[in-house]
Amino acid sequence: MVENTVPAEFDSLLDARGVSRRDFLKFCGAVAVAAGLSSTAAPRVAMALEESVIGATKGNLFPVLWIEGASCTGCTESFAQIETPDVGKVVLELISLNYSDVLCAGAGHSIEEAKKQTIEAGGYIVVYEGGITQGFGGNTLRVAMETGEDILAEAASNAAAVVALGSCAVNGGWMAAYPNSANATGVSDFLKKRGIATPVVNIPGCPANPEWLMSVLVQVLMMGGKEALVAGDVPAVVSTLGLNAEGKPEGIFGQTIHDNCERRGHFENGEFVYEFGSKEEALGYCLYPLGCKGPQTKANCGVTLWNNRRSWCIQAGSPCLGCCEANPNDPGDNWVEVNTPFYERHRDVHIGNWFVQPTVIAGGLTALVAAALVIHGFGMKAAGRMDGGADFEKVRAWDAKNPEKSIGQYEYSILDGDPVKLKNAQDAIKAEYAAAADAAAEAVEDAAAETEEGR
Ligand code: SF4
Ligand code: SF4
Repeated sequence: MVENTVPAEFDSLLDARGVSRRDFLKFCGAVAVAAGLSSTAAPRVAMALEESVIGATKGNLFPVLWIEGASCTGCTESFAQIETPDVGKVVLELISLNYSDVLCAGAGHSIEEAKKQTIEAGGYIVVYEGGITQGFGGNTLRVAMETGEDILAEAASNAAAVVALGSCAVNGGWMAAYPNSANATGVSDFLKKRGIATPVVNIPGCPANPEWLMSVLVQVLMMGGKEALVAGDVPAVVSTLGLNAEGKPEGIFGQTIHDNCERRGHFENGEFVYEFGSKEEALGYCLYPLGCKGPQTKANCGVTLWNNRRSWCIQAGSPCLGCCEANPNDPGDNWVEVNTPFYERHRDVHIGNWFVQPTVIAGGLTALVAAALVIHGFGMKAAGRMDGGADFEKVRAWDAKNPEKSIGQYEYSILDGDPVKLKNAQDAIKAEYAAAADAAAEAVEDAAAETEEGR
């Protein structure tokens, strides 16, 4: 049992910080769940914490640089909301936070010097918050005479790993939303462009949940990842954290919000809220018609909860806005672009019997360079900048069964059972698609002819 494995030394450490054993074990259970493990893994987390905390008090601290990019500092604020005294504070004592633009007591030359020395020594983690703005020669963000992009490149080059914290750091977020005049991007994309191969752990969210960062730190520093990090063993780091193809820990970002939503039963029963302030809202019905992006957003908010595990967006009455849907592999596909307008449903474009995401169509045609203007039309639709909002969901089975209570504003009246109207709508889309493809092919032929002439 854990009770017997926690030594007196660790007990007194908890006592000194006003943390009870019970709270400590509760915390270990929560970290295990946040990390995608079962709560039965709590004793393992407790033992790892105990050993590492004791080790840390003997001078074995892991250095961390927390660097602000183009951000609102919301992720720092979120992290700082951990209650004190709290076991989170004990975990924080595992790291040596050598630099933080927001939290450092020091300032100016002394703190810049601490950062420089940490970088020279190597083997540290960078927590990076915010987007990387490259427009205007990088001068939209300067700290201590350096551009934001150079600060990240320098810090990441010698780091064991970079944690991109928050959706802006993952793929540009708000900073990269239309019109993106500062040419913002996320950490992975930026490091790739600069040829820096340091592993990146992506933790999206607006802001990111502090428990997610905590669980990543616990796994890396206490559960076998530390040695791999120091040795630069990227595959071992990836496997310890269970990173998916987007560099996100699968345990945290592997299931949809919808999968773990307490209103899911109402969704299945077709019981929806159509208006804020309504009787249905008071009854706690499903928020899908008000634009809930839970079905297509992957994060475990409903399990980890927010504000020290008190509540979360949907419990508080807000539809999920999809703030974790930041894809680092596609800089144009950030959560703001994809999910606005927030309080409307998004659906697929349907062509005949196919349901296709406009971004897929646009992606396929992008190779045909000169079709950019036509493709832009689809892109505008995907981004919700055309009437009808962004379309990327199929018609729900429930809608089809209950046409009189349809919960989407379907652009084409496919639910009214009028086959002529349906066929006309499908033909119109097919014609639009065919015209786009023809224009693209023509443009490519012209470009090829021009190249031939120029030879
Ligand atoms: S509120 Fe959102 S996440 Fe919850 S059941 Fe409804 S659609 Fe799904
Ligand atoms: S429930 Fe949705 S909007 Fe709320 S934090 Fe989670 S992903 Fe973001």
